[in-house]
Amino acid sequence: RNAGLGSWPERRLRISPGRDAIWFEGTTTSHAQFALRVRRAAAALAGLGVAAGDRVAWTGGNHPSALETLYACGQLGAIWVPVNARLAVPEAEYVLAHSGASVVVHGREHGPLADALRHVVATWIAAEPPADGGADSLPYEDLLAAADPEQRDEPVALDDPCLIMYTSGTTGRPKGAVLTHGNMTWNAVNQFMGMDFTPSERTLALAPLFHIGGLNGTVNPALLRGGCAVIVRRFDPAETLAVIEEQRVTSFFAVPTMLDAMSREPGFRTRDLSALRTIGAAGAPLPLPTLRTWLDRGVTMQQSYGMTEAAPGCTVLDSADAERKVGSAGKPVFFTDVRVVRPDGSAADVDEIGEIVVQGPNVMAGYWNEPERTAEVLSDGWYRTGDAGSLDDEGYLYIRDRYKDMIISGGENIYPAEVESALLELPEVVEVAVIGVPDPRWGEVGLAVVVPAPGTAPDPEALRTELRARLAAFKVPKYVEFVDDLPKTATGKVRKPDLRSQYAHTEE
Ligand code: ATP
Ligand code: MG
Repeated sequence: RNAGLGSWPERRLRISPGRDAIWFEGTTTSHAQFALRVRRAAAALAGLGVAAGDRVAWTGGNHPSALETLYACGQLGAIWVPVNARLAVPEAEYVLAHSGASVVVHGREHGPLADALRHVVATWIAAEPPADGGADSLPYEDLLAAADPEQRDEPVALDDPCLIMYTSGTTGRPKGAVLTHGNMTWNAVNQFMGMDFTPSERTLALAPLFHIGGLNGTVNPALLRGGCAVIVRRFDPAETLAVIEEQRVTSFFAVPTMLDAMSREPGFRTRDLSALRTIGAAGAPLPLPTLRTWLDRGVTMQQSYGMTEAAPGCTVLDSADAERKVGSAGKPVFFTDVRVVRPDGSAADVDEIGEIVVQGPNVMAGYWNEPERTAEVLSDGWYRTGDAGSLDDEGYLYIRDRYKDMIISGGENIYPAEVESALLELPEVVEVAVIGVPDPRWGEVGLAVVVPAPGTAPDPEALRTELRARLAAFKVPKYVEFVDDLPKTATGKVRKPDLRSQYAHTEE
């Protein structure tokens, strides 16, 4: 029997058919209607030749077709492959070719992508009429209308792959994390336990659904719990606040930059946010001022640490602990264990920095078709995150930085994240990335790439002097460069490898 995610709509249809499942641009779909649309999508994909084990890619701005095709793949035993909608053509080509997708469902902006990559994947389906190009893409709504809404019952086990999600590519070529149906289920349970979800949840699908936080932070947990996903096509701070008010949104997941942008809108003060109960924030540290601004609006905040490979939630810090444990990413979620280890694998002492490793039913099966990269990170059921961190005497996790970003200068370890937070406290600094550049004397030295506050022209020496009052001298970057903006991934993370190659030859 289908035990996986594909069975969720069927079970909901049995339990709470009349409740809202999806809201999108003025249209509400009940759990019963959603279940029928998923059945039709499954039949349509099967009609195009999709069978168990096949890969079906999806790309676009947030849209109900993302969830419908995800669940439809689950019913067929097929594997869903979300593709970042902001990838350039060669990057999307890499993901499509690497995953071996046989069908792509695309959003209205992606007609040109379909036209450019039809030689890589033969069948393209347009979820909405494309704004431009995509003349040969099949219309999704027509396929659904013509499809059979009978329930199918393919056997799908919890250990079977549900989706392949490519990592952000912050540290290099993206890796395809294979998440099983069990990974999806256990992450959802971890999340809705931690966030006290009820069937009345109206969660906002705000972050991209092709990213793990957008998909699994609150959206799948709320759907499993019988709640509703209020889908926002793309992030616009003012419009999002309007939707939160109008749709009586109770929760959402966002990355810190989104929370910061929303808190600067006039609507943040004037909109009725009284239904909003809790927010999940992850992906990067949440600055304390941003946290406080939201807490003042009467919500609770669950700051968490996670990654694509763990579907994604690993630890969570409730806002009740935020002031007492500033800078911590909290404690492990219910079904997941987190340790900090030394290079030889032994457990680090309290407050000793080591590599964060994670174990639990939410941890991926491995990387798609990359046994060597899988073997590097998975052993005895533990996933090596590549992140440096420590646990305090109460078991709270503190994240330092990625080992790949760590700077070793004259034998001292410098965690750029620490230097970046010190720089961000200065009013002249809006954004910053600190990287290591080669240095004949010290091996490596720090270089800060700074986006200055509008209308300011900070002096590099003055910034360094201010830092010296806050940080040990060896941590103060030797160089400061000013730029208008930083290269970023679609999830808003700075692409440090790009900066490192750009500034590799910096000399005095
Ligand atoms: P790639 O693995 O391709 O280089 P990525 O690691 O950025 O990309 P994701 O899986 O989206 O891809 O991000 C997970 C990483 O984000 C974590 O390993 C960690 O480095 C960072 N991260 C997540 N949550 C937090 C947090 N709360 N505080 C600090 N860093 C975080
Ligand atoms: Mg990673």
